[in-house]
Amino acid sequence: MSRTIKTVDLSHTSNAYYAPATISTGALVHIAGQPGSTKDGFVPDDYESQIHLALLNLRKVILSSGASIENIAKLTLLIVNYGSANRKHVRPVQRFLRGHRPAITLIPVSKLAVPSWLFEIDALVALPTQSPVSSPSLGITTPWSAPQRAIDVVIIGAGLAGLSAAHEIIRAGHSCIVLEARDRVGGKTWSQSISGSDAVVDVGAAWINDTNQSRVYALAKRYGAELIEQNTKGRVVLEDFEGFDEPTRQKLAEIRDMVEADCQEVDTWKPHSTSLDAVTFEAYLRSHGADDVSLATATVWTRAMLGQEPRDISALYFLNYCKSGGGLLQMRSDRKHGGQYLRIRQGTQLLAKGLAESLPEGVVHLSSPVQSVTQVSKDSIRVHSSSGVYTARKVVTTVPGPVLKTISFTPQLPIAKRAYIDSLSYGYYTKAMMEFTSPFWVEKGFCGLTQSFVGPASVVRDTSSPADKKYVLTCFLCGDPGRTWAALSTRDREVKLLQQLKSLFDYNKVEDDFVQMHTYEWVSDEFSGWGCPCTSLMPGVLDAVGADALREPFGDVHFAGTETAGEWKGYMEGAVRSGERAAGEVVGGLRAIVSKL
Ligand SMILES: Cc1cc2nc3c(=O)[nH]c(=O)nc-3n(C[C@H](O)[C@H](O)[C@H](O)COP(=O)(O)OP(=O)(O)OC[C@H]3O[C@@H](n4cnc5c(N)ncnc54)[C@H](O)[C@@H]3O)c2cc1C
Repeated sequence: MSRTIKTVDLSHTSNAYYAPATISTGALVHIAGQPGSTKDGFVPDDYESQIHLALLNLRKVILSSGASIENIAKLTLLIVNYGSANRKHVRPVQRFLRGHRPAITLIPVSKLAVPSWLFEIDALVALPTQSPVSSPSLGITTPWSAPQRAIDVVIIGAGLAGLSAAHEIIRAGHSCIVLEARDRVGGKTWSQSISGSDAVVDVGAAWINDTNQSRVYALAKRYGAELIEQNTKGRVVLEDFEGFDEPTRQKLAEIRDMVEADCQEVDTWKPHSTSLDAVTFEAYLRSHGADDVSLATATVWTRAMLGQEPRDISALYFLNYCKSGGGLLQMRSDRKHGGQYLRIRQGTQLLAKGLAESLPEGVVHLSSPVQSVTQVSKDSIRVHSSSGVYTARKVVTTVPGPVLKTISFTPQLPIAKRAYIDSLSYGYYTKAMMEFTSPFWVEKGFCGLTQSFVGPASVVRDTSSPADKKYVLTCFLCGDPGRTWAALSTRDREVKLLQQLKSLFDYNKVEDDFVQMHTYEWVSDEFSGWGCPCTSLMPGVLDAVGADALREPFGDVHFAGTETAGEWKGYMEGAVRSGERAAGEVVGGLRAIVSKL
């Protein structure tokens, strides 16, 4: 996307999230005031939910004009009952702008055109001078004259989705190649050796189960995974505000059961509920009587599962995410059938390595980031990557949603798909694996599982491998407390976590037993889309463009990756299933071509 906006700053203004002035090139689009209503005119009572919906409405108009958020020159915010102590618009507007700084004017008003409207936003946007999709951020160019290779299917990405798709396509008798940007396979599964031993830590995905995660379990068996059952013997620690009395405990159980029941009502593949999608998960909880403790507990769920705060995501999106893994309770469970039941001693990257090694030679091309996909005519697509230009009948992309914005598609992706992709956001999510000389928590009668309202780690789990004499507590740094922790130096990060572990397990010798910390910042990783483990949607998107918008094929381009999954969305199981689903679509399409010949 060409830059059409230049900010004008004074010596003291560059730290603000808006600019005092902007200079724009390109024709101007004047966008009328957008209220916080759904496409059918439903207006939620909640102020923050209305802000999300108004921003979505603005995003839709901007994309339809052929521009993007980065082309906004000026925003005007009209806010009913504005109070400087209650500036709830700042967070959603900042997230919407993604670091872009237009000029912004805020106007407090007593009411808007419709009495239920609490927020309205209008914009001035400068149209880009070149095609809005030609924005490969990868900085690599491949000459159009580069040699072209013809193939049935090009798969983009050698994570679990891409490699699973490749197996299915080759099994059906078609040729395919997998173009992978990194110099390794596995994507968000990455198992790193602990120096000086055979043991590994998973800086990406770690847990599977052997019942409802049938595809990933089959891969684990096929490639000789040694499985470690999650330790659930011993006490769990809860770090709360000031202890729970009985009424608080009861309220918490009520809210948890309500979320479980409501998520079971949501359709796995086609979630639809205008009223649930119009509000944030926090507004949904509050409207059902959640008190501060229930909200803090639900915040641990959204942080530990998505790195998000409940006020940043749609209630319907979160309920559907839970449903995709069989329900909130199953997804949160460390026991049989649960999302955190088994780990792999050799690390989960074993699965991707096994899949890649069992493909015919020459199928997987590493260090080959794809820059553009051009649908030349029916069943003829040209794919440009740094390793060459390929002509295929079909393409399966498995890259995470935010990465799709870095690939140039010709013709442009449909507006509904672009609106869905543009609305996807990651929260903050990092695992810090704290290695110790002994499992002191086990010796003190704890299983290692902790949950905290205060942080920095929202959740801690035992990820030891006793057979390797490797004793590790994995700390989940997620959401707002994770972001605060991430701003510290490496040494201060270690210190903060050691202090928390010392207090959680009431163990004074934590520092003495500490060996080292292992982390990886997915938030800085462009090929994961600058985050993990899975993207989320804010209110209104599912209702506006539908749950199929991301996974629907566009011409001969098919869309896989864990975000497109029905079951176990965001997990390795979802990735494998999505790859198989997309391969099925492609194989069906290729069969139709052959039968017409
Ligand atoms: C910290 C963390 C913890 C997690 N914990 C768990 C867990 O315990 N259990 C679980 O089941 N899941 C977990 N997950 C999620 C799980 O890792 C993912 O759902 C799954 O691996 C996604 O697979 P995928 O193939 O859909 O996408 P990815 O693994 O992201 O694969 C996409 C591939 O596309 C490549 N790519 C990107 N851009 C381009 C380009 N332009 N050209 C070519 N290639 C490109 C990427 O390099 C990548 O290899 C976790 C993830 C993280 C990061």
